[in-house]
Amino acid sequence: MDKKVRVRIAPSPTGAIHVGLARSALYNYLFACSHGGTFVLRIEDTDVQRSTEESAQAIIKGLGWLGITFDEGPYYQSQRLDIYRKHADQLLQSGHAYRCYCTPERLEAERKKADAQRRAWRYDRRCLNLPEEERKKFEAEGIKPAIRFLVPEGSTSFTDLIHGSITREHKDIDDFVIVRSNGIPTYNFAVVADDHLMEISHVLRAVEHISNTTKQILLYNAFGWEIPAFAHLPLILGEDRKKLSKRHGAMSLAEFRRMGYLPDAMVNFLALLGWSPGGDREIISRQELVKLFSLERINTSNAIFDMQKLAWMNGEYLRTMDLPKLLEVFQEWLRFQEIELPAQYSSKDFLSKVLPLIAERSRTLAEVYDALLPYVCDDLTYDEEGLNKHFRKDPAAVKRWLLLYRERLEKLHEFNKETAEGVLRELVEELGIKAGEIIHPVRIAVTGRTVGPPLFDCLELLGRERVLERLKNLPV
Ligand code: GLU
Repeated sequence: MDKKVRVRIAPSPTGAIHVGLARSALYNYLFACSHGGTFVLRIEDTDVQRSTEESAQAIIKGLGWLGITFDEGPYYQSQRLDIYRKHADQLLQSGHAYRCYCTPERLEAERKKADAQRRAWRYDRRCLNLPEEERKKFEAEGIKPAIRFLVPEGSTSFTDLIHGSITREHKDIDDFVIVRSNGIPTYNFAVVADDHLMEISHVLRAVEHISNTTKQILLYNAFGWEIPAFAHLPLILGEDRKKLSKRHGAMSLAEFRRMGYLPDAMVNFLALLGWSPGGDREIISRQELVKLFSLERINTSNAIFDMQKLAWMNGEYLRTMDLPKLLEVFQEWLRFQEIELPAQYSSKDFLSKVLPLIAERSRTLAEVYDALLPYVCDDLTYDEEGLNKHFRKDPAAVKRWLLLYRERLEKLHEFNKETAEGVLRELVEELGIKAGEIIHPVRIAVTGRTVGPPLFDCLELLGRERVLERLKNLPV
């Protein structure tokens, strides 16, 4: 690549940071990292009504959580209005733009008329060559003009790095507004001024913007500016093949964080949402992503957001995490969720024993927390199906076995997983029953669950006192 790589994301801060924006940010970040380039954050907050600083902060925080850092910015468009005004004047002077005094009411009436006649509406250039007197009249009436771009005849072609050659006839493009009558620039105008002034070399953004690109190129040409390379990233669809939206459940980064997804797993998953390194590799570390990422391997076809795959991937990251890291991410998640464990169970010592056993069977940190509950809280909820299956068929016999087991545990000199297993095996022999007939009900009685770490590990984790207590207060 001969040109210095400078990329950006330019989110409008009008809500939570969603997965589409996170994916765009990640691709820009990976592209910048792999080319020693610069990643810029620009907040496109010219829509004063809908933009909030809170949302801008949520975007910055969400990207930070994913470990996606930017090198420049955030720049705020709302602080750059003078720049856009100056550049609009330049286009007015060069004849590439003109003032338009048409009121919204007039334009709306025209649009309705066209609709009724079933023809496409285009601005009729009524103000293009407005006689000086009329202009003065409007000014005297206090009408503030918008500024429209004068779309030339012909067509524009460009080569999208993902979608290939794209051509659009200008006759399909209106003389679009570049500065509204209130002095605020439109997206297409501000984005061009900024991408030029910020020396953006590659614009990698969602495919929804592909139709804006022609208008933007027309503006670059009018200014005589160099045009950046464009690459439009594939759409992200839900499993129902409809465009991903709130209907599909958790789509903001904060929600994924609450659900206990790990930043590394999210990054890995988002990277594969429209890109692949070739072959069928799925687990790819951040460092490898930087090495492997290339625009050539971005798909043209839509990506499907597969929640099951994300959960599986997160589980893989949890399973292979070393203990200090596991402790760190879990405690960080508890803080984020504002959950406080009872003091006696929040020590590193206790968590170091229990977390590896339950993380192995969990896909998210929320699942880890759920599996931890029987060990940190005495108010058990019992699995109804488990009770039906393992208790209710012959409650009297089960109760008798469990109380016998309890007696033996009480008498043990030393209580640990080996001794607890030893006396259970003896009892099974003596009673002439199958081990499962007592193991399953014991598990439910002491944890409320039918699944979990090996039973005797559970007993040791709980400690004799709590095991005896729970075997006394049986659920049935
Ligand atoms: N503000 C635009 C958006 O959020 C930016 C699009 C672009 O990257 O050009 O969709």
